Amino acid sequence: MLKIGVLGLQGAVREHVESIKACGAEAVVIKKKEELEQVDGLILPGGESTTMRKLIDQYGFMALLKKFAKQGKPMFGTCAGLILLAKEIVGYKEPHLGLLNVKVERNSFGRQRDSFEAALNIKGMDQPFTGVFIRAPHIVEAGEGVEVLCEHNGRIVAAREGQFLGCSFHPELTDDHRFMQLFIDMVKEAKKEKIV
Ligand code: GLN
Repeated sequence: MLKIGVLGLQGAVREHVESIKACGAEAVVIKKKEELEQVDGLILPGGESTTMRKLIDQYGFMALLKKFAKQGKPMFGTCAGLILLAKEIVGYKEPHLGLLNVKVERNSFGRQRDSFEAALNIKGMDQPFTGVFIRAPHIVEAGEGVEVLCEHNGRIVAAREGQFLGCSFHPELTDDHRFMQLFIDMVKEAKKEKIV
């Protein structure tokens, strides 16, 4: 069975666990560094990217997360997790993990629209997907090798580059597991390639 980890330092962890299970995979909440080795793919949840980064440093996760990526294992960042994955953040000199070739802007949907839902057209899905946005970032620029999966009002809100997947919204807060399934399929593929 595929094992999917959810970085459990802060943020919307439990909802991801439910969604992973609903897709028929095993979910592991990662709180200790050793636990990272057990999983085939990792989710960086939504929450607060600056707080999550502090905890990543405090618990010594930084080097291990980069190693996880080097092994070719898929990583999926939702909302704050997308900010952690991005190679560039508007207004910041340094990224956090700097893995996904996009430039993101934090809290970029304006104050009166801090939180909202929108019907999204996602590449590869024939029915709209409800995106829950909570003080969400958006992708200002998608670099080379990045496939844009969804735009909302002209703004990129989901993208994939090889083993990395990121979205501005919270797919785990709906009972629609199609976006999680997309990630699980990526993990399945990556694992198969390793075995062959
Ligand atoms: N605004 C948060 C940040 O910048 C992200 C919000 C979220 O994950 N829901 O980190």
